[in-house]
Amino acid sequence: MSDAKGLIIVTGGSRGIGAAICRKLATDGYPVAVNYTTNQDLADIVVAEIVANGGKAVAVGGDVADEADILRLFKEAQAALGPVYGLVNNAGILGGSSRVQDLTAEALARTLAVNVAGTVLCAREAVRAMSTNNGGKGGAIVNMASVASRLGGPGELVHYATTKGAIDTFTMGLAREVAAEGIRVNAVAPGLIDTEMNSPERQARIAPGIPAKRVGTAPEVAEAVSWLVSPAASYVTGTIVTVSGGR
Ligand code: NAP
Repeated sequence: MSDAKGLIIVTGGSRGIGAAICRKLATDGYPVAVNYTTNQDLADIVVAEIVANGGKAVAVGGDVADEADILRLFKEAQAALGPVYGLVNNAGILGGSSRVQDLTAEALARTLAVNVAGTVLCAREAVRAMSTNNGGKGGAIVNMASVASRLGGPGELVHYATTKGAIDTFTMGLAREVAAEGIRVNAVAPGLIDTEMNSPERQARIAPGIPAKRVGTAPEVAEAVSWLVSPAASYVTGTIVTVSGGR
């Protein structure tokens, strides 16, 4: 582990893909802030595992749909583990499953608030802290996109897929906006991953149509995040790395 490695804030780090990302980044030597909304017990378990393995981590609660919570997340994480070097914008929700004709305004608003506004405002805070224009040392942002942005999610998840389309565009635009300020911005687009986001029934229904003939695992997604934040990806920005078994 290099002492030079700085704090990485992972939103939605208590479960699923985010928890795997926290574990992997800690193994890589980064101090990690494990954000959660409701499951503090699970975030605490991730932190305890990291600390038991010699890493540094802190659990910080906060809803990424709430600007005040985001400000507090960045403040508390940096107070505990030093200046932020990286952000993984992982927190996301499906917003329920329905055809567009049955979608409620409340479900749509919540999905947009968490998946889009949450991602954009967390990235804003990271840029404010990391940009060399602001006296920062640069850093890396990884957004959690999805293959849903090009598949569209017909019949169940068009609203969710639409938010992930916004993530693709935001990643490309922000990458170009801050490329000369020491900040790289990329995204990972998972396919169908075995987490609580996908019911066993959904996984069984979709898996046979995946070219690799199986769902993916959270650690397989974390590997891509690990590479994108690392110096090995020093000339990579504005890119979406797809981790989907060919889907
Ligand atoms: P998950 O198992 O449902 O876990 C979601 C995580 O996000 C939890 O840690 C949860 O915290 C947190 N979270 C939810 N709403 C939040 C909010 N408003 N503020 C802060 N944290 C919040 O989901 P996942 O499958 O790991 O998905 C992670 C990301 O990958 C999402 O952006 C998702 O869209 C994307 N993705 C997933 C798949 C897939 O197949 N699983 C495919 C493509 C993309 P609590 O534990 O406190 O609730």
